[in-house]
Amino acid sequence: MAKCSICGKEAVYCAKYEGRCYCREHFLRWFDSRVRRTIRRFNFFGKREHIVVAVSGGKDSLSALHYLYHLSRRVPGWKLSALLIDEGIEGYRDETIKDFLRVVNELGVDYRIVSFKEEIGYTLDELVRLGYERNLPYKPCTYCGVFRRYLLNKHAREMGGTVLVTAHNLDDVVQTFLLDLYRGDTKKIPRLGPVTGVSSHPKFIRRVKLFYEIPEKEVVVYALLNGIYPSTFVECPYARFSPRWEIRKFINRMEDLYPGSKYMLLKSLLDLVEKLKDKYKETPKTCKICGEPSSGEICRACQLKMELGILDVKL
Ligand SMILES: [Zn+2]
Ligand SMILES: [Zn+2]
Repeated sequence: MAKCSICGKEAVYCAKYEGRCYCREHFLRWFDSRVRRTIRRFNFFGKREHIVVAVSGGKDSLSALHYLYHLSRRVPGWKLSALLIDEGIEGYRDETIKDFLRVVNELGVDYRIVSFKEEIGYTLDELVRLGYERNLPYKPCTYCGVFRRYLLNKHAREMGGTVLVTAHNLDDVVQTFLLDLYRGDTKKIPRLGPVTGVSSHPKFIRRVKLFYEIPEKEVVVYALLNGIYPSTFVECPYARFSPRWEIRKFINRMEDLYPGSKYMLLKSLLDLVEKLKDKYKETPKTCKICGEPSSGEICRACQLKMELGILDVKL
């Protein structure tokens, strides 16, 4: 059994890339100091903020909420709320909503739940079916991603939020980075920076990725040690249709063989974000149909609705 590198007690986690192990107490301290370092390094929050945490009900976002709840109690100028988007994925979402409600009620955090069905008119399952019937070339994750992004921004703003926190961790970020490279989609790389949505458009909310420098495994350990691990571990049923699945296996294998690989990918990513952000700078416009911020005349959400035949509009 491995021993804590600090106190010699039984270790709960070993960071191979550092060559150190931690007991329960020292893991939690180490985790806290590293998240705080990320917050400082990238200037995530100011003295006065209404922080809205985008919560999916999974381990990452519940951990983000739990972490920020404890941190925000020490900062008088911060208010904290949670926002859950219910896409409507049968057999998956119902479970995660239960976990979400348990945690927000335990912590006493204000929250809002927004559903695809009410806002778009269709659940994600129905949208996927519609797209399939119309022979649209999109994967489920496209509909989910576009509408989630849209609704998160809109509702975080309506709630009075000044910053939207997502629980993206180191693994999520480097996976998306490699996916963008494999697709030749370097334009999207600036979106993988730690802070996005800082623009001149008044309807855009700044977004920060809280666990930007924390590996997924460590978020899992944090969740387990704090008793917030979802009661039932359910994976999104659409996940295996995404090429991310393979990329994830590949990156994890590299990390096993060469500890620290993920941090090296992140280093390359940060360097590219810096170099590309001006080159691909988008001047946000206002969508002609819905009035939300958009990169073109019509936003991605309205475009998708048109392709799906669920938006009737005369231009
Ligand atoms: Zn220890
Ligand atoms: Zn629109």
